[in-house]
Amino acid sequence: MVQIDLSPLIGARPGERLSFTLDEGPQHLDDISVAFLRGPIQFTRVQGGILVEARVETRVEIECVRCLEPFPYDTVLEVEETIGLGRPRPGITYTLTEEGWFDPLPLLREQIWVNLPMKPLCRLDCKGICPECGANLNLEPCRCAEERVDPRLAPLAQFLKK
Ligand SMILES: [Zn+2]
Ligand SMILES: [Zn+2]
Repeated sequence: MVQIDLSPLIGARPGERLSFTLDEGPQHLDDISVAFLRGPIQFTRVQGGILVEARVETRVEIECVRCLEPFPYDTVLEVEETIGLGRPRPGITYTLTEEGWFDPLPLLREQIWVNLPMKPLCRLDCKGICPECGANLNLEPCRCAEERVDPRLAPLAQFLKK
């Protein structure tokens, strides 16, 4: 959780602004792990709320759809969202606490989901896993070939192993 004090903006006139730089280490955003979150985040008082603008670099740990191994995925989160001052209402998902604190992580988490590829690959030529034996073909050869030896040839296979 990251808490930013936006209380000075509550009573401010539209157009007034607070700027911060996020520089966070490893974070768990519910179901997403990131190695860092870095970049400028700016809050501008607008009519009825606060406009958040951010450009945050991050490295997300995601799973390759082919080999199921986790790998780091770098992306830049471009955020432009209005947050409310009171309770959430239609179109306003995020709000300040009564004391004027704001945690940008849920908003950034949502933006990470938007940025992630539908079918992440650890590398373009990922060989995936063998559906039969489960071997990660990037790391090891498939073992199925030896197991699928024709039983009639089994004695020969035995012989060749010696
Ligand atoms: Zn892979
Ligand atoms: Zn196999």
